[in-house]
Amino acid sequence: MAQPRFAFLDDKIVPWDEATVHVSTGAFKYGASVFEGLRGYWNEKQQEMYVFRMAEHMDRFTFSQRFMRFDEVFSPDYVTEKTLELLRANECKGENVHIMTTAYLKGGAAPGVTGPVGLAITTLERPRIAKITSGVSAQVSSWVRVADNAMPMRVKCNANYNNGRLASMQAQADGYDTAIFLNSRGKVSEGPGMCFFIVRDGQAITPSTSNDILESITRTTVLQLLDELGIPTVERDVDRSEIVAADEAFFCGTAWEVTPVTMIDRLAVGDGAIGPITKRLQETYFDVCHGYSGAHGEWRMPVYKAAAAKA
Ligand code: PMP
Repeated sequence: MAQPRFAFLDDKIVPWDEATVHVSTGAFKYGASVFEGLRGYWNEKQQEMYVFRMAEHMDRFTFSQRFMRFDEVFSPDYVTEKTLELLRANECKGENVHIMTTAYLKGGAAPGVTGPVGLAITTLERPRIAKITSGVSAQVSSWVRVADNAMPMRVKCNANYNNGRLASMQAQADGYDTAIFLNSRGKVSEGPGMCFFIVRDGQAITPSTSNDILESITRTTVLQLLDELGIPTVERDVDRSEIVAADEAFFCGTAWEVTPVTMIDRLAVGDGAIGPITKRLQETYFDVCHGYSGAHGEWRMPVYKAAAAKA
């Protein structure tokens, strides 16, 4: 993967190799940082890069910073502007990109310290999940999703992600592509970095937001797109045994987009191939993210048109 020329650190765009953080920081010591992962989608015909649902990501970014009681909360407008500037500086064109915005504790040797705070932004080329059309296998993890009253997954704090790392490493060691968490109540929660849906008898079912999941922007998008496709949806508790009864299953998230899950605990989901509803949804999702048909223009922020309009 090509290394970008620039990153954004604290208050300016810097050469990639200079975007470093000291070992004494709270971010390094405690994982005291919060982040957003966004995707920029390239539209070849329009020669435009679209950042998907920037406003919703910035709202969640603000929430995470407030939750961690950071002394400074970077305004959504500021982070948006700096992200667009960096995408242009790195001349991100031709490929989809993964964008990370991170607010990190750059002071602080004690656990209760809340500042000073820095801002880091990176833009990296990121191809699709390799098995996005054929489907992935998953293991119901023996690791339990951290509970909301321990380390809330609703907050995108970097330290939370070690729970997902344990499950991912275990799944890989056991020969699966990834993992599905149960929560401390024994109900289906989500994947390490993505939400989870099953389809039963034509209805799409996903764990409600009280199941120790991230309030995923893709999940909200998918619920709306399914509704527009005429597929009924429900958000509720999902039992482990229901997974086996499912006709289809899929993960969704910024990085995972809409990825079919075709094998769980070495049992085929449905007939073991991507299901018809998952396929239709996936096509619709790609269409909307890239802006091919023009639907849901309100979800796409153009990177280059905006700059041209300003100039
Ligand atoms: N759950 C977790 C734990 C995640 O890290 C992510 C990725 N941000 C998701 C779900 C999917 O969220 P989103 O659709 O907002 O990317």
